[in-house]
Amino acid sequence: MTLVMKFGGTSVGSAQAMRETADLILQAKTAWGNVVVIASAMGSKPVKVTDLLLRGAHSAAAGDKETYKLVAGELRQIHFAVIDELLQPEGERQRVLAENEAFLQRFEDLCQAVLVLGELTPRALDAISGMGEQMSVRILAAYLRQIGHRAEAIDATDLIVTDHNFQAAMPLLPRTKSKTKVRIRPLLDQGVVPVITGFIGATEQGVTTTLGRGGSDYSAAILGQALDAKEVWIWTDVDGVMTTDPRLVPTARSIPTLTYREVSELAYYGAKVLHPKTIRPCIENGIPLRIKNTFNPEHPGTVIVADDKNGNGGMKAVSAISHLSLVTVEGKGMMGVPGIAARTFGAVAHEEVSVLLISQASSEQSISFATPDAFAEKVLLALEAEFATELQRQDIDRIWAQHDVAIVTAVGAGMRGTPGIAGRIFTALGSTDVNIIAIAQGSSECSISMVVGGEDTETAVKQIHALI
Ligand code: ADP
Ligand code: MG
Repeated sequence: MTLVMKFGGTSVGSAQAMRETADLILQAKTAWGNVVVIASAMGSKPVKVTDLLLRGAHSAAAGDKETYKLVAGELRQIHFAVIDELLQPEGERQRVLAENEAFLQRFEDLCQAVLVLGELTPRALDAISGMGEQMSVRILAAYLRQIGHRAEAIDATDLIVTDHNFQAAMPLLPRTKSKTKVRIRPLLDQGVVPVITGFIGATEQGVTTTLGRGGSDYSAAILGQALDAKEVWIWTDVDGVMTTDPRLVPTARSIPTLTYREVSELAYYGAKVLHPKTIRPCIENGIPLRIKNTFNPEHPGTVIVADDKNGNGGMKAVSAISHLSLVTVEGKGMMGVPGIAARTFGAVAHEEVSVLLISQASSEQSISFATPDAFAEKVLLALEAEFATELQRQDIDRIWAQHDVAIVTAVGAGMRGTPGIAGRIFTALGSTDVNIIAIAQGSSECSISMVVGGEDTETAVKQIHALI
């Protein structure tokens, strides 16, 4: 039986965290036989290695000759301190130091190239931003060997084959499956624990790609699928998926079970604890997902299942996603013009901008949708061009955006069978003067999303959380 376990940034963020992570790996190996480990870049708060790598790359692209060197120094300090503390000098310490140094040297070389070119392509960005994982897995695997267990650090560039969509690459499953099986199965058969980089993959030609920020969770699901894993466990720094973001609401509670659908909605609408793409490979293969706390491993955490038979009715969690704009196309003559919605979203898609929520008010003849603030201007320009004729004829009166809004989403499969939930939510928001700008119901009917002003986000989350 194969268990895939992914350890997030904090779980490998310090020497002590790596020791605890190693303990968990060994316990799982005893219980399961085959354990496959995926690790993120070191991410002890507040300094995250991936953020530092990105900062170095962006500053170099902006013509800054110094920052990336300072960043490299900081990265050296972070990694070397952990290596010194964890690995014995008579063992692999020197070798792992040299391996990490080679990546840091490469980081500086790439930043130098970016500086000279004055351009940071998505391809270069992926080569740079995936290095944190390549360094952390080498440290963790060496530590497992030091404490007497067979382990091997592996770059997912040898396993996960993706398309060329740098920054958000899509895995190509058949190739990924065959490469992963050929490389990983023999290791498992010999009792070796593969310690694999999260976040990265490579094109068929071997060019490094990344799966999107937070994508290590997705890596675990992809590899779980490729290896027919029995379960996939995501180890993080909280007791599973909670009723809301515990940083925002300290009284948030851990949720024992959620369905794939419920957790999809939560992840999609801002619950950072799980990358939204993680769920699909698990659903397709009926692989249960567990989310657990590296720093409180006795806690059962959250299990994600296909169907929650004992699921209590009602709302289970609330999440929020901020820094959005609500773009509205409106006009009294719109009803007479066929294909407005198709053209609206066609124009948005053409700009390669994602739409997070759609709300249509037929009485007012308007279509509204939420999109990240950063893309709002680009979207408005595209829509004005698309509807130039209609604007001139005044079939469309106005295309505009309300900036700095947030989507607050209440989730729970039982909500659809529980009358009055929406009413209770709206009453609770009304009582604190939170104005609801737009509403949409999730397609799976297990969520209700509301658009509120950015300044109301926290109040809205707290008010809705109090109803759970
Ligand atoms: P990792 O590095 O382990 O992947 P992340 O920072 O990506 O960790 O995700 C874990 C964090 O997600 C938690 O520390 C918590 O602050 C945040 N979070 C947001 N919403 C939720 C939620 N509903 N349940 C649990 N954690 C949440
Ligand atoms: Mg994460």
